[in-house]
Order: sequence, then structure tokens, then C-alpha cells
Amino acid sequence: MLPAVVPTDVSMPVLATVACPHCHHTFDMEYVRLGALAPCPSCKAPGIADIPRGGTYPMRDYEMTFRSFMQLISFEPYRDKVGPFMRMMGMIVLGYDEDARLERQDGTPVDPLEAHLELQTGEQSQRDIYQVAMSVWR
Ligand SMILES: [Zn+2]
Repeated sequence: MLPAVVPTDVSMPVLATVACPHCHHTFDMEYVRLGALAPCPSCKAPGIADIPRGGTYPMRDYEMTFRSFMQLISFEPYRDKVGPFMRMMGMIVLGYDEDARLERQDGTPVDPLEAHLELQTGEQSQRDIYQVAMSVWR
């Protein structure tokens, strides 16, 4: 098997092979979207598709999944580091755990997946949030 070629340009998606939690159909999903609710291309049921046990995936040095991003913004012990970073990015983190949510400075709600993808498509912001994650996960 040939090694996976991972594009270095952050605007090029890195794909992971995931399985639908309902029908187990496998399909490709952007690595950064792992953990996000999405409809299955086969059975159409919305679910959180994941990499099957034993499966591997390519990733870039600083890329993170949506699941990791949600952990960052929802865990109370991380807020001291994550809150100020998100404020720098123009967003306010409110609530904890299931109630965690994002707003723009003007009070407009922001879809966390949208915010995550926005951070992951910027080379600098992707690196910056990775550093924030490393500072709370170590
Ligand atoms: Zn399915």
C-alpha cells in the first residue's frame, strides 16, 4: 500500500474514511469535520460518523477535529486559555458542556462547526488554536 499523501496547503482537505453509525456504510469525510453531525450519503440518516476501529487516517501537524474543538470550548477547566483566544478571533464562548455556545462580539450566535472550519482554513489560526489545545491538554 502506498503511503497517504497529505497536501500541505491547508485549503486542501485531508480525508478520513469513516463509517455511518446506522448502516455502517463507509465514506470519506474531511478530517477536520470528525465529530460533527452529518447525513450519511447511503442511508441519509444524520449521525456522527467515525473512523472504524483499527482504521487509520492521514492528518497534518496542526489540524484538529471538530470533536476536539468542542472539547476545547465546552470544558470549564480550559476556559481560562480558550476564552481569551476565541475573543481574539472575534468570538465569545458561553456556557459549559452541553450548553457551550459561541457568539460574535455583537451577540450574533455562531455555529460551532462554522467557527471551527473558519479557524481550520487559516494557516495561522489553525496553528494558534493547536497551541492553545496543547497548553490545556498537556
Ligand atoms: Zn448510513
